[in-house]
Amino acid sequence: MQTFDIAVFNGDGIGPEIMAPTVALLTKLAARATDYALTFQSLPAGAAHYAKTGESLPAASMTAARAADAILLSAMGLPSVRYPDGTEISPQIELRKVLQLFAGVRPVRIGPGQPTPLKMPPGRTVDFVLIRESTEGLFFSQGQGEVSENEARETLRITRDVSEKLFRFAFQLATDRKASGLGKGRVTCVDKANVFRAFAFFRGIFDAEAKAFPDLTADHAYVDATALWMVQKPWDFDVLVTENMFGDILSDLGAGLMGGLGLAPSADIGLHNAVFQPCHGSAPDIAGQGRANPMAMVLSAAMMLDWLGLRHDVPGLVRDGAALRAAVERVVAEGKVLTSDIGGTATTNQAAQAIDAALPA
Ligand code: ATP
Ligand code: MG
Repeated sequence: MQTFDIAVFNGDGIGPEIMAPTVALLTKLAARATDYALTFQSLPAGAAHYAKTGESLPAASMTAARAADAILLSAMGLPSVRYPDGTEISPQIELRKVLQLFAGVRPVRIGPGQPTPLKMPPGRTVDFVLIRESTEGLFFSQGQGEVSENEARETLRITRDVSEKLFRFAFQLATDRKASGLGKGRVTCVDKANVFRAFAFFRGIFDAEAKAFPDLTADHAYVDATALWMVQKPWDFDVLVTENMFGDILSDLGAGLMGGLGLAPSADIGLHNAVFQPCHGSAPDIAGQGRANPMAMVLSAAMMLDWLGLRHDVPGLVRDGAALRAAVERVVAEGKVLTSDIGGTATTNQAAQAIDAALPA
């Protein structure tokens, strides 16, 4: 029996409302598992905490998060609370930088009943993963672009070290997906190598890393064509891996295909740490009303169980991650207990109870 310590950031806005039922579901699964246990430690951080104390991510919270086996985060930031320079409070970006979480993982799955804007041909399923490099690329010079009165520039930075780690991660993920019967064993490098030397460099590193994974198909696509295909034939994809800015844009397209932010989970993964959080923000417009959709948070928790299970070789964790995801998909497919963002009238707690009831007995 292995015990995993989970650092929990309850966050701002709807954050605490979606985190509480998610931790309750995890606690229930862990209580009946025979090969793992979970402990939870709530850590202060975020906009409300900043307003009270002047600190958005206390050093003690960072230290505890780093030491934990995984980090679960709801959403942080409020439009009304800002740093002195006017930017929004965003400890999640600091976590990403400090813990070097280079792989932003955004699964795009469209199950039965999901409110996708796509016309799905019969027999097709969409199940792919977009991996966004999250520490460099076109975000490298963020806010420091060279500016004169008549010109602004930003720098695109691609390093061999980060790219190698990123592509290894992508090939390993495709290997795991293939082994579990989900994936097609294909990794596509998304770039613009026909125009930018930096992307030709990126692609060259991809091709070199691919040699270590002869059982997988490694291919390339331009980012503009990828946007088109994500709408026209997304069922062809398996694992897509790309640069920071391209990934930023394509992952919102992916969330749109899934039928909205309330259903879109994500993970930010490094060599030693990982943060699991929904794609959406703290939704201050609906906070305190008990009607936030908990599904993206629950699906992010399922990704956490997958990651811990594969990393530490604990089959119970992998099984429970799949069970949690299947429970959410069943509730969506039945369409009876849905929150208002996806066309229903259910409260957060009713949706969470429906997920609980859909778990295997
Ligand atoms: P951020 O900048 O942190 O990404 P944002 O301002 O872009 O945040 P969100 O906070 O994600 O946006 O909210 C965007 C819209 O989606 C809001 O109208 C919000 O109410 C809605 N929304 C986001 N998450 C949920 C959820 N879990 N359930 C229901 N509605 C949601
Ligand atoms: Mg936003």
